[in-house]
Amino acid sequence: MRKSIVAGNWKMNTTFAEAKALITEIVSDLNNETTEIIVAPPFVNIEAVVKATSNSRIKVAAQNMHAATKGAYTGEVSGSMLKSIGVQHTILGHSERRGYFNETNALLKEKVNSALTQEMTIIFCFGEELEDRKSGNHFKVVQNQIEEALFHLGASSLDHIILAYEPVWAIGTGETASPEQAQEMHAFIRSLVANNYDSVTADKISILYGGSVKPTNAKELFSNPDVDGGLIGGASLKAEDFLTIVNAF
Ligand code: PEP
Repeated sequence: MRKSIVAGNWKMNTTFAEAKALITEIVSDLNNETTEIIVAPPFVNIEAVVKATSNSRIKVAAQNMHAATKGAYTGEVSGSMLKSIGVQHTILGHSERRGYFNETNALLKEKVNSALTQEMTIIFCFGEELEDRKSGNHFKVVQNQIEEALFHLGASSLDHIILAYEPVWAIGTGETASPEQAQEMHAFIRSLVANNYDSVTADKISILYGGSVKPTNAKELFSNPDVDGGLIGGASLKAEDFLTIVNAF
């Protein structure tokens, strides 16, 4: 059985007090025993969130990490630093990192290798721009992003990868991929994994959808056979909305 997962990406939101209030409300109102739940606060609030979730089953992710273990990389944070405060997960490849910070598939491959060396689990994001979809290139773009950053890995490493399909045109725009568009792409992604590895590996890997998931559309998206949950941006900043999405399976 594949895991159902809902992950909240808080992005560059929440002061220290806001982060503590948000995670406290999520922990106390959580009434779900099956969905895997991950929250990704900004770096400065991450340790407080680790502490606040220590007696719960909520996992904490970084939103990014550097590929090196340590060194002269001013402003950066490494996987070993994250592990040292109890963070086991990291998002990599978010379209905002690819777009604003020029993260390429080649760089992401290095980050993936580094996170796996630290025995972290990766939420690996990818997705096409609007022009790619309009020109019918969306499958090819997604295939390249996945192949170039992940397909050098052995099958056992894929146990530590959660895939997150996030069409860039649907992130923070209020425009959601239709359930049919999401299912079509997720089935394609699973077939890529099956072709490059095998059907057992493909059946095991969780593929999340991200892009304007809300309490009102989560159920319809998650009811598709190849959509195993969501990576949630805006709606993860309100405990009630986030928990409604957690319960939308
Ligand atoms: C995201 O940033 O990963 C995301 C999906 O954002 P939103 O839900 O706000 O579209």
